[in-house]
Amino acid sequence: MLSASADIAAFDRQHLWHPYASMTEPPLALLAESASGARIRLRDGRELIDGVSSWWTAAHGHSHPAIIAAVRAQAEKMAHVMFGGLTHEPAVALGRLLLKLAPAGLEKIFYCDSGSVAVEAAMKMAIQFQLARRLPEKCRFLTVRGGYHGDTFLAMSVCDPEGMHSLFSRVLPQQLFAPRPQCRFEEDWQPEDTAELAALLEQHRHEVAAVIIEPIFQGAGGMWFYHPQYLRELRQLCDTFDVLLIFDEIAAGFGRTGSMFAAEHAGVSPDICCIGKALTGGCMTLAATLCTDHVARTVSEGSEGRPGLFMHGPTFMANPLACAAAAASLTLLMESGWQERVAAIERQLRQELEPARCLDSVADVRVLGAIGVIELRQPVDTAALQEFFAGQGVWLRPFGRLIYLMPPFIISTADLRRLCSAAVGAAQLHSNQSFSRARTWQTP
Ligand SMILES: *Cc1c(COP(=O)(O)O)cnc(C)c1O
Repeated sequence: MLSASADIAAFDRQHLWHPYASMTEPPLALLAESASGARIRLRDGRELIDGVSSWWTAAHGHSHPAIIAAVRAQAEKMAHVMFGGLTHEPAVALGRLLLKLAPAGLEKIFYCDSGSVAVEAAMKMAIQFQLARRLPEKCRFLTVRGGYHGDTFLAMSVCDPEGMHSLFSRVLPQQLFAPRPQCRFEEDWQPEDTAELAALLEQHRHEVAAVIIEPIFQGAGGMWFYHPQYLRELRQLCDTFDVLLIFDEIAAGFGRTGSMFAAEHAGVSPDICCIGKALTGGCMTLAATLCTDHVARTVSEGSEGRPGLFMHGPTFMANPLACAAAAASLTLLMESGWQERVAAIERQLRQELEPARCLDSVADVRVLGAIGVIELRQPVDTAALQEFFAGQGVWLRPFGRLIYLMPPFIISTADLRRLCSAAVGAAQLHSNQSFSRARTWQTP
């Protein structure tokens, strides 16, 4: 039996903490009842077009029948067993698919239960790699400003230091930050873009374990697309200064930027790579840290008389339901003609977000693959916009000065048109000053 909507809302407000939210002044939470394709249906009967693929996960839309069938079949056999001392076919089947798709050279897979954990695992792997080489002082990380790598501690330490985690600066390990890559994806390459990065790396080579970066597409740190040459130069610099390179493909992976992994735009491979978000097609939580044979072998050599065990092991590691969902999602992706879908979404985003460029509230409009961004001059009022968007029948979740779209790849032309027009409409509202509120930062 269904509880009354009012009861559900009241309990939620009193007891359930939402992401990046206050418990005493909780933000409005709409009551979702079901979701399929590009639509989220609310209990009150309204239908919203999901313009952000539910935090970038539902690449094939919600409740894709092939993914649901795979999970259901797996649930009837074995929902979960521990991965310590046991293995199973869903983990292996997914591993085979990942090796087929992943950037060249990545051969070993460590399954994790969320993106932040995959980043922690990658950073721990880099530290253990340097320990095994008897270089214990190489235990810091270098990254660029404007990044986002997750909400756990090591991951927070490499997020933009002025961003959402600045509260914790006193307790975070102090990492090294190069400027945000400036040269845009489609611009002519400016060689000076990597100058400070190169100088920092040279200066700190003796204490840096790895560089960690989101390739091409910086997500929650500012929705920014930068030039592929940056990554080629970074790969060279890491080799020159004997530092590992970690790519965080959690937001960019699985076709979102127009290539299967963003690293492919540059034609370079990292030593360690984190994936997550769209991995299960938005069905459940799963992430992974991939690495090269060289990294895995070196870690496994051990250090200081200790055996070479990688010291991480989530309780729900390689959960069979999540692995089955991911294998179904990747199979769908490979068979979906996603390149054409993403290219068509890109064309439509370019065309239909363009009118925002001439608004005086708008600082920039940019598009790459199935990602469209309107950057305003002032921070948006998230709560007010949520109502505006719901009124337009769309689900978008702007943050900071950014209104962005990352629709499911299966979105129809008509639905994408509604999303674009709502996004441009929201930018128009901000041309009327009273709508924006000065805030220093906001969360995604
Ligand atoms: C979302 C995200 C993470 C964190 O993933 P969670 O599953 O939320 O822990 C890490 N890195 C990037 C680039 C992300 O977009």
